[in-house]
Amino acid sequence: MTVSERGRSTLEDSVVIRGLGKTFGSVEVLRNVNLDVKKGEAVVIVGSSGSGKSTCLRCINRLEEPTEGHIFVGGHEVTGKGVDLNALRRRIGMVFQSINLYPHKTALGNVTLALRKVAGLSKAEANEKGRRHLELVGLGQKADSYPAQLSGGQQQRVGIARAMALEPDVILFDEPTSALDPELVGEVLNVMVRTKELGMTMVVVTHEMQFAREVADRVVFMDHGVVLAEGTPEEILVAPEHPRIREFLTRTK
Ligand code: ADP
Ligand code: MG
Repeated sequence: MTVSERGRSTLEDSVVIRGLGKTFGSVEVLRNVNLDVKKGEAVVIVGSSGSGKSTCLRCINRLEEPTEGHIFVGGHEVTGKGVDLNALRRRIGMVFQSINLYPHKTALGNVTLALRKVAGLSKAEANEKGRRHLELVGLGQKADSYPAQLSGGQQQRVGIARAMALEPDVILFDEPTSALDPELVGEVLNVMVRTKELGMTMVVVTHEMQFAREVADRVVFMDHGVVLAEGTPEEILVAPEHPRIREFLTRTK
């Protein structure tokens, strides 16, 4: 597929998804999903459990193999054979629900690992950049702490610093606060607000509706593997036309 065949999107788009389909065996979990995320935008995906949100994110960095369709990240097609998956994942940050720091590395060590191994920075360069990104997430003082010495919220903030430090085309967040104690959710959401303010392109799956309303440039509502509606936070989360979305919102309040 060439750029002109992708429709109205341009190379300025960080993520372009066209006709994405995914089946697991005979079960169709994504059907004709289309999405455009422009540079610097935050797109929030909401929807019931099992609607295909995680599968959609995982197709973007090929943790899942799409069955149909095309995905472009930073102007490069990521679907199809012959794509260098390591190079692809270098350009896509991912922050998961389960916090996945290396336990035997410090906060700084976790942030600098990929900078050294993947981006090829020298130790001094990686440390400087790593410290700068820990400062950005408010953890400059915790650079030498191990994950076990940090709260879940702090660990997730290290994960965000790690993703940002690689300066990816986009960071994918899959329910980054769902595993946290309620009192720790706010600090992680605040860091995500800051990430957006710094101009990072973000695709965020979350049940935090207030965050979605305040931060999203666009909200995508997924239902049974399809994009049921897409619009401004106002259109989707405040005054949705679709009865299915109204029902979802009453349940998540
Ligand atoms: P969400 O993130 O919106 O909760 P998921 O993308 O995790 O939804 O899952 C969508 C559907 O795909 C669910 O029905 C789930 O059971 C199914 N599914 C997800 N991953 C797999 C897999 N590896 N094998 C089989 N079915 C899967
Ligand atoms: Mg999920």
